[in-house]
Amino acid sequence: MNLIIMGAPGAGKGTQAELISKRENIPAISTGQILREAMREGTDLGRIAARYVESGALVPDDIVIGIVKDHLTSDACRDGFILDGFPRSVAQAEALKKTGVRIDAVLVIDVPDERIIRRMSGRQVCRCGASFHTEYLPPKVEDVCDKCGSKLFIRDDDKPETVANRLKTYHEYTEPLIDFYRREGLLVKVEGQEKVEDTTELVRQALSKAGAE
Ligand code: AMP
Repeated sequence: MNLIIMGAPGAGKGTQAELISKRENIPAISTGQILREAMREGTDLGRIAARYVESGALVPDDIVIGIVKDHLTSDACRDGFILDGFPRSVAQAEALKKTGVRIDAVLVIDVPDERIIRRMSGRQVCRCGASFHTEYLPPKVEDVCDKCGSKLFIRDDDKPETVANRLKTYHEYTEPLIDFYRREGLLVKVEGQEKVEDTTELVRQALSKAGAE
């Protein structure tokens, strides 16, 4: 299965991407995660990305398109992949289409802005990529990652003023992709629920109905 997952920041795309990745045994490629890793390592890519990520803007298209192309052509993606957070603009979607890589479905997790803002205030992440929420998806031990035991932290770009910018960026540049993929007949939309497992079930049903699983 070759799947794209879209949704506003905090809609739960990363969590669902990880769950599907485990279930289907295919890699989830998160451009946000790749950029954050580069920022932590202080590479040239990281230094450029930081300027955009920290303000909630989009990293320039040519940079992310290059990253994704490298991943999609790797052996790891031979049996399928999940793109989490890419494409995020019509230019990125056009570039992906030009690669000729087949896409089976584009899953949109829809969550109203007010709920996103409420959710983001409790989000905690781990350097290994896992994501938790103090209220909706608490780790077994407070502030400690279930997967690797590292201390959880709050992402810099989850600060309220940056979240507002990220939502604005989403509506302006990424939301138009919903129509783009609807026209391509690939759109699968679910309403994001309060509980992760409820969203997971809706996603499973929707993908199976679309014949993507
Ligand atoms: P995410 O973890 O998906 O919420 O991404 C975090 C941040 O990384 C975004 O707010 C953007 O600044 C940047 N980013 C991630 N994916 C993309 C993309 N496809 N295009 C441009 N910027 C991106």
